[in-house]
Amino acid sequence: MKSFRKELLFNIPTRRAFINITPQVAECLHESGIREGLALINAMHITASVFINDDESGLHHDYEVWLEKLAPHEPVSQYQHNGYEDNGDAHLKRQIMGREVVVAVTDGKLDFGPWEQIFYGEFDGGRKKRVLVKIIGE
Ligand code: ZN
Repeated sequence: MKSFRKELLFNIPTRRAFINITPQVAECLHESGIREGLALINAMHITASVFINDDESGLHHDYEVWLEKLAPHEPVSQYQHNGYEDNGDAHLKRQIMGREVVVAVTDGKLDFGPWEQIFYGEFDGGRKKRVLVKIIGE
């Protein structure tokens, strides 16, 4: 069995963003040379997510509005977590948007359903973050 590991690096200037990382993951798969197996892609930080959905700007706007209703950033004093930090909302947003995705690798390609794309969700930007890509198979 082959094994491939790579970290994707991010430093998003805004507090929140959704970035389509499908091309980087596809490049990792190409580098790995793996034709059949599984790809795990996970955020390595507790205020960022990796998830799969449609690359559609209306949907991304709807996520932003929905997440701000569920866990508004302000007032920052509403979260016991805040004090030294002001990212209490980002931990909650990360929880609901998820830590990782697993994608089947078939015939050397990411085996997606219709319209599926992989996204990095940033909820507390302005600093360096990493996403782990681990691919196993043969
Ligand atoms: Zn925190």
